[in-house]
Amino acid sequence: MQRIPLLAGNWKMFPTLAEATELARGISTPAIPAGRQVMLAPPAPYLHGVGEILRESGVILASQNICWEAKGAFTGEISPTMLKEAGGTMAIVGHSERRQIFGETDKMVNTRLLGALQHDIIPILCIGETLEEREKEQTLAILEGQLLKGLTNVPNHSRSKIIVAYEPVWAIGTGKTATSKQAQEAHAFIRTALADIFDKTIAEQIRILYGGSVNPTTVDELMAEPDVDGALVGGAALQTDSFLRIINYTA
Ligand code: PEP
Repeated sequence: MQRIPLLAGNWKMFPTLAEATELARGISTPAIPAGRQVMLAPPAPYLHGVGEILRESGVILASQNICWEAKGAFTGEISPTMLKEAGGTMAIVGHSERRQIFGETDKMVNTRLLGALQHDIIPILCIGETLEEREKEQTLAILEGQLLKGLTNVPNHSRSKIIVAYEPVWAIGTGKTATSKQAQEAHAFIRTALADIFDKTIAEQIRILYGGSVNPTTVDELMAEPDVDGALVGGAALQTDSFLRIINYTA
């Protein structure tokens, strides 16, 4: 099964408007290597402006979170229809910063994921264990639980569109990348769990990204693993040169 590699940049709450504009121009100007997809998730206030820059470039626009409702009294939320108006087609859900800092539960993450799908937005479901959970050898149980709860009630026709990002919390923003062997082990487990939750055919179609301090030095080895279908990149996506190097990883 051919899964199109996706190189995704999450700018979090870092760039100024000027930096975001420069980054969006720098990333979207060179041609995307054949057979790959590139995605950028700017801070919400910049979605429209970055969307304008990315238009026609082939670079996918995403939001860093998404509300399940299109409109209404949801102060501070990002509406799926507003995202679409800005040109966005993907949304990150369940990022560990949302879970840990803002208290988002698996149930809420599931509601966001289902809402995204209902509005034709492709959700990128982030899952991952903390250092403490890894040390207690609970990694696989944590991943399985987050998948089961995050993927509850997904309609048949939407299942293969979902993207999963394995982001070990201990590797996010810490400079500690999981080894390619650790990433592959987790990704293979996730694919088996997806086959149990959905079925084998769907599991083979779902892309599983690795995220956690991915940088130009580690990307080639990670992308060589059979179940690593892309990368979700934070820090190294904030500089044009390093993210372009990641996009142009050597297969
Ligand atoms: C992320 O924000 O999803 C992430 C993986 O960040 P970093 O690459 O900085 O670890």
